[in-house]
Amino acid sequence: MEKQKVSINGERLRYTLEEFADFGRTKDNGVTRLALSEMDIKARDYFLICCEELGMTVSYDDMGNMYATLPANDDTKEPVVIGSHLDSVEKGGRFDGVLGVLTGLEVVRTLVDYNIKPKVPITIANLTNEEGARFDPSLMGSGVLSGRYNKAKMLQSTDKEGVTFKDALEASGYLGEKENRLKKARAFLELHIEQGPVLDNESLEIGVVEGILGMVCCQIEVTGDSDHAGTTPMSTRKDSLMAAINLITEAQEKLSRLDKDLVYTIGRLNVEPNIHNVIPEKVIFTMEARHQDMMTLKQVEEIIHQLPESSGKEKCTVKATRLWGSETLWFNQGLVDQLEQSTQSLKYKYKRMVSGARHDALFISEYVPSAMVFVPSVHGKSHAEDELTKWEDCEKGANVILGTVLSLTTS
Ligand SMILES: [Zn+2]
Repeated sequence: MEKQKVSINGERLRYTLEEFADFGRTKDNGVTRLALSEMDIKARDYFLICCEELGMTVSYDDMGNMYATLPANDDTKEPVVIGSHLDSVEKGGRFDGVLGVLTGLEVVRTLVDYNIKPKVPITIANLTNEEGARFDPSLMGSGVLSGRYNKAKMLQSTDKEGVTFKDALEASGYLGEKENRLKKARAFLELHIEQGPVLDNESLEIGVVEGILGMVCCQIEVTGDSDHAGTTPMSTRKDSLMAAINLITEAQEKLSRLDKDLVYTIGRLNVEPNIHNVIPEKVIFTMEARHQDMMTLKQVEEIIHQLPESSGKEKCTVKATRLWGSETLWFNQGLVDQLEQSTQSLKYKYKRMVSGARHDALFISEYVPSAMVFVPSVHGKSHAEDELTKWEDCEKGANVILGTVLSLTTS
């Protein structure tokens, strides 16, 4: 049988996505399915049933990551893994994460429909607590798999009701053995919504994701003097907020000249004491920046670290600290090329791109060759109830994954 004549059943994929959206569907047609919540457990239970119906064996590891494996005629071979996450943020959408998992399901259903027997096992992975919306941090399941996160520390992570991840995992029924963890695999493929506007703006159908943007996050602390807002003359004030405004303006001017693809954000700004009739004594704000070129991120850091010497600091003291950063991750070149070939043979409109958001594939790629495919987010919206990806684009994304899985498992 010629490979690309096999295609996934778009209607069934749509129906299954809507079935899963019922696990936590909000009244505005979004989804709240926090990790290991009642709704997440129901979704997991149903996912398990769907996989077992296809003759797959389902296991879970000590972080609650689920693996459904379709056996092959040679089970000693390393599997091809298709995966993402079933959890969502509070009032999130119907596509983020779940699309990647259900694409795995749809790919296996398609192979069964066409009676195609893969030569290597195919595993669908549902990775626990990607969003970090209930238990901090995000990418928890994949972070422990890669060794980036300390498991003991993760188990103690607590939700806002005071429930630990450990207790939630034990109560869920999805606490499995460490030996079940995802080990070496031939490939890890993740289909995800873009969560940005690029594909939608350019009327493209597919993004072949080459990597994930590097980032740097710094904290700037400006210290002045608090005093009476009515009696202190302007000339003698040490107003930390006024100084912070000058510093931000200066940084913004310099950053905007660096590179058009640089994105930067002041996501947090705390003012103390934050009282209307008191001159602010201290302002602490964060600046994070993302770019694929590490040289550009170095320049960002230099600009931020020069802020304490700035003329705009108005008698205040300024301290800049680097909180954390990560280098741009490049996915497995061979897999990226295969996904691109699969896209081209289907004649979809696409571009190669780098993701600004982090995904499970980021950590998994540390020990398994990995790559991702994006489908457009209408108006770039995500983590919102009106998050939308057109059904036909979901179908196209799944077909790209199918094409690649076929070439990895049947040749
Ligand atoms: Zn996601």
